[in-house]
Amino acid sequence: MEAYIPWDENSELDLLRQAVREFARGEIAPQAQDLDEREHFSLELTAKMGELGLFGTIVDPKYGGQGMDYVSYCAVVEELAQVDGSHAATVAAHNSLGAAPIYYYGTEAQKKIYLPQLSDGKGLWGFGLTEADAGSDAQASKTTAKWDAQAQEWVIHGSKIWITNSAAEITKGITVQAVTGKTENGRPELSCFLVEASAPGLKRVPMHGKMMWRASNTGELYFDNVRVKDSAMLGKRGEGFRIMMETLDNGRLSIGAMGLGLAKGALELTRAYALERKTFGKPIAKHQAVAFKIAEMAMRIEAAHNLLYKACWMKQTGKPFEKLAAMAKLYASEVAEYCAREGQQTFGGYGLMKEYPIERHYRDAALLRIGEGTSEIQRLVISRHIGL
Ligand SMILES: Cc1cc2nc3c(=O)[nH]c(=O)nc-3n(C[C@H](O)[C@H](O)[C@H](O)COP(=O)(O)OP(=O)(O)OC[C@H]3O[C@@H](n4cnc5c(N)ncnc54)[C@H](O)[C@@H]3O)c2cc1C
Repeated sequence: MEAYIPWDENSELDLLRQAVREFARGEIAPQAQDLDEREHFSLELTAKMGELGLFGTIVDPKYGGQGMDYVSYCAVVEELAQVDGSHAATVAAHNSLGAAPIYYYGTEAQKKIYLPQLSDGKGLWGFGLTEADAGSDAQASKTTAKWDAQAQEWVIHGSKIWITNSAAEITKGITVQAVTGKTENGRPELSCFLVEASAPGLKRVPMHGKMMWRASNTGELYFDNVRVKDSAMLGKRGEGFRIMMETLDNGRLSIGAMGLGLAKGALELTRAYALERKTFGKPIAKHQAVAFKIAEMAMRIEAAHNLLYKACWMKQTGKPFEKLAAMAKLYASEVAEYCAREGQQTFGGYGLMKEYPIERHYRDAALLRIGEGTSEIQRLVISRHIGL
């Protein structure tokens, strides 16, 4: 049988992990709590992540990217998420949802214009699918793009909500799904457009009050008579929904990496605390109930790790990976939530205090069962893949 673990250990991957780990622990960790409390998106850390090559990860070097495979890219996200969900989210959303659709579906001209600006941490791109009344049911988009034959332009009206990286100062643009007409069987025809952040008529409003990922940028977008040329269409007319769904298939790998990283971070914090904290005259790790809890965390993490990287390996070797990506996203998010909750329990009262990072992990884990398709939608995707 063909082995599916050739991905796991090699010296190049180890070096990459080491570099990202050092950065996350040395640069992000000391600021993470403060940024979270202030709900502040750090341009400085984003630029530094850019210098490290964490944007444009999977993009070919000829467009300014790093040309990484999916195992390496997900290892990057995983290392960041061990320390902080917000910064992992900035990187994952930009690479998977921002740069990737342009890279996979863009024309040569679109790639040459946009990708170099999106590979250095000085320019972000958002993925504009969700609307106030179209989340899981993403075909229910109400945003429209009408062709103005006289001006030879598409005119976009509508709004989007919860779009990661869309309302930052350095946002260069957003890929927007809009209704461009009706299909032969009367369903909405959906197409994608690359809309630059500076387009007249586009209002980008940062959203505040999130319980998690508080140092990541999330925006609401309003399109009022936003005009774009036909050359701004991504893919062909009517291909928008397919492009969006395939983008989410890839994106699920990086959300899985966020879950796995968060779980590993929670395990590390919990293990260290359990060895230090004493009750009844001994470290709590020596109480079997506590040790078993941590053993359970370690076991689930091992399973999530294998599932996620098998899915990445399948993606990068051109095998069908979509079912495993949904499984990895779903399972890793559940493992993350389990590890954050049991970790917090192990910290006792201290785990409820903001100065302990386990508290932030506990909040950040919640997003993983909602973003890029809820846990219920992952189960739907998996059940369809197994013929139900
Ligand atoms: C911080 C954050 C960042 C985000 N970033 C982005 C982004 O960058 N781009 C983007 O486009 N979107 C983004 N989203 C939106 C996210 O993808 C949606 O919130 C998510 O898909 C769920 O949609 P909804 O919130 O409208 O919930 P709904 O679709 O209204 O679902 C509500 C509940 O009903 C359940 N449900 C719905 N339909 C079914 C069904 N058929 N079967 C079973 N259960 C069902 C859901 O699982 C959920 O529990 C982001 C969201 C957040 C919170």
